[in-house]
Amino acid sequence: MIATEAPPTTTMTHAGSVATRMAVVADEVAGPAAADVDARGRFPTETVEALRAEGLLAALVPTASGGGGATLAEVSEGLVALGKRCASSAMVVAMHHIQVACLVRHGSSPLLRDYLRELSEHQYLLASATTEVGTGGDVRSSICALDVADGRFRVEKQAPVISYADDADAVLVTARRTADSPESDQVIVLCRPPGLELEQVGEWNALGFRGTCSTGFVLRATGDADAVLSEPYSDISTRTMLPVAHLLWSSVWLGIATDAVELARRFVQAEARRKPGTMPAASVRLAQTAVVHQQFVDMVHSSLARFAEADADSDRLSSIGFGVGMNALKVSASTLVVDIVRECMLICGLASYRLDSPFSLGRHLRDGMGAALMVNNDRIMANNAQMLLVHRGE
Ligand SMILES: Cc1cc2nc3c(=O)[nH]c(=O)nc-3n(C[C@H](O)[C@H](O)[C@H](O)COP(=O)(O)OP(=O)(O)OC[C@H]3O[C@@H](n4cnc5c(N)ncnc54)[C@H](O)[C@@H]3O)c2cc1C
Repeated sequence: MIATEAPPTTTMTHAGSVATRMAVVADEVAGPAAADVDARGRFPTETVEALRAEGLLAALVPTASGGGGATLAEVSEGLVALGKRCASSAMVVAMHHIQVACLVRHGSSPLLRDYLRELSEHQYLLASATTEVGTGGDVRSSICALDVADGRFRVEKQAPVISYADDADAVLVTARRTADSPESDQVIVLCRPPGLELEQVGEWNALGFRGTCSTGFVLRATGDADAVLSEPYSDISTRTMLPVAHLLWSSVWLGIATDAVELARRFVQAEARRKPGTMPAASVRLAQTAVVHQQFVDMVHSSLARFAEADADSDRLSSIGFGVGMNALKVSASTLVVDIVRECMLICGLASYRLDSPFSLGRHLRDGMGAALMVNNDRIMANNAQMLLVHRGE
């Protein structure tokens, strides 16, 4: 569990939609802490505690299991609000909800069903270890393997990155099914204390998303074999982890872009007030940027709608067309966030380049640059290229 330094205070009373309550945490807790989180590269404890106090870490868990029963669209809206104020906080929360979504849909054993109820009650925070030293961003292959004997599993993984592992209550880990399995025959397993040991390797001193604390670890875990999700990871990834990750990451990046556009708009409006009767030089660029931003908004909304439509149809979720579309969302969103921030920097000029100005866009740019690397866009394009070779259309 995360140790609380000081109880976070918000104006909330568990009232309002999930998105509204996430937005209040964004404005009242995440925003004020964002500069310190970024400067010190520290975990956004106060934001996670505020979400925990509101029961929002179980937002995606069905009400029957004690959760909030929220839709992905509601969580996405909340992540846009968080991304506007503190992209590191938003990314932590997005990564957590991706893992929760996998457990909700695929965690069918009684042990995992009980765990979801426990997660809702205690508002656990989940991390993930899909990347591995030796396979890099190729998350669909593993080197480490599960060793299952006498109803117990054991695994050791060299993980180059596990975001906020020290502050998480459990980690979902991918591994080969057995020591004899090929690299692509993977499963995913819930690893939690006391059977979880994390040996930190190196530090996280990165350009952006500094508050995600994405350090490397040697992860050693043991536990009940029922903590292994029964479906192959390839199915879990195709139907849930990949589309949900691309939808929620894109929501975070949309938050970054939205805040940049709002800053640029305020900058141009201030210019217009200073010289009444004249059109500020950057106003046409602002209008053009608003068009691109609207495309970004519409793309995230239409992708959420496509996922909601396909949600109950496993064939559709597994179809090549759906996968190509969800990959396209990730590549487009991660490109647009940087394009939009860069345009906003041209609009605000030096005021955005300075780090001590109310129009500074330094953190937006640094965080935004991480988007294309979180599973490299070139790698995603290579996957799409392969799928398109055999795609027969919708
Ligand atoms: C903020 C942040 C948080 C993260 N949190 C986590 C986490 O909690 N858990 C986790 O498991 N991972 C996490 N990651 C890791 C992330 O998901 C990526 O998998 C990882 O960043 C990829 O690392 P890489 O760039 O070194 O490797 P690669 O993706 O392997 O890229 C290395 C190089 O390979 C090149 N390349 C491109 N396409 C291909 C191809 N088809 N085949 C081979 N090489 C190719 C790339 O251009 C690049 O130059 C996080 C990353 C970031 C930025």
